[in-house]
Amino acid sequence: MDVQQTSRFTVTRSSKAVSADQRVASLADPGFGKLFTDHMVTIRYTDGQGWHSHAVGPREPFQLDPACAVLHYAQEIFEGMKAYRLEDGSIAMFRPEENARRFAESAERMAMPVLPEDVFLEAVEELVKIDADWIPGGEGSLYLRPFMFASETFLGVRPANEYIFCVIASPAGAYFKGGKKAVTLWVSDHFTRAARGGTGAAKCGGNYAASLVAQAEASKHGCDQVVFLDAAENKWVEELGGMNVFFVMDDGSIVTPPLGGTILPGITRNSIISLARAKGHEVREEPYSFAQWRADAASGNLREAFACGTAAVVTAIGMVKSVDGDFTIGNGDGGIVTETLRAELTGIQRGTVADPANWVRK
Ligand code: PMP
Repeated sequence: MDVQQTSRFTVTRSSKAVSADQRVASLADPGFGKLFTDHMVTIRYTDGQGWHSHAVGPREPFQLDPACAVLHYAQEIFEGMKAYRLEDGSIAMFRPEENARRFAESAERMAMPVLPEDVFLEAVEELVKIDADWIPGGEGSLYLRPFMFASETFLGVRPANEYIFCVIASPAGAYFKGGKKAVTLWVSDHFTRAARGGTGAAKCGGNYAASLVAQAEASKHGCDQVVFLDAAENKWVEELGGMNVFFVMDDGSIVTPPLGGTILPGITRNSIISLARAKGHEVREEPYSFAQWRADAASGNLREAFACGTAAVVTAIGMVKSVDGDFTIGNGDGGIVTETLRAELTGIQRGTVADPANWVRK
């Protein structure tokens, strides 16, 4: 077996890695989330012992006892980030420190031990290094999925005493089926995502489990994604199932729902706010109601709307459907502000536009 010791990690190369030909063939059309690389990172946590057994090894199934805590009480968190190849051949990631920080914050909310942020970054980099050949060229990227779950065999309801942190990687092409075209959204009138004091700001699996029925309803209505309104009044726009949302007004100002514990603090959201402000847009993080959205779309006061997140970066919102009827935003096909911000952000990520805030980590 090919085993090496790096600073912290024991690295064991897979003896079952797929052949170069097979890899190249599968990278031609990776889709999203169904193709995986040869390796994974694991780190274990045990009460009293802390984090231990840092390993990079062959990607393989876990053996879990049926009483494994995560299977019952859903103590689980994750992150989503990308590694991609720049034109000069080097490998880059976008603001991975922010993922490390959000992961730590999610852990605290879910009463899980905090993995030191430098260890999180090292783990991700180890996996990117060993599976670098899996990074698709062109606009594709290697989607990285760090996650952590309660692995203790115990049925009592309390924070577990044992955890596994793991990173896997999945080569990805375009996120939405339609590529860059504007998406259609379904506004859920009876399902909500998160209430005040709940777990809305944490990236925990349970939030996504709760959103699936609403997303399925959106699909049933022919929509790409669901929009959630707030849980208290069913009035204020919060976010989509997996993206934050922005509104571009006729005067050039931009509105996005504020972070208040019920929406995910998106790293793309934060980046867009900075970029838009640097371009001279006034950006307001303030509540925006669904009724106002509809009225502004009708009056022309709302010129564009877009969704943003790691997977699809920036995507124009063309049409909005709900039980009260449908409406179109602008010409239904995005607009110049959305397109400019998208080009700027992807340009910074890909190294073709200057990176003033040192967001790209090679
Ligand atoms: N909201 C939700 C619910 C999400 O799952 C995501 C994707 N992580 C986002 C927003 C966007 O966050 P980010 O820009 O950090 O990917």
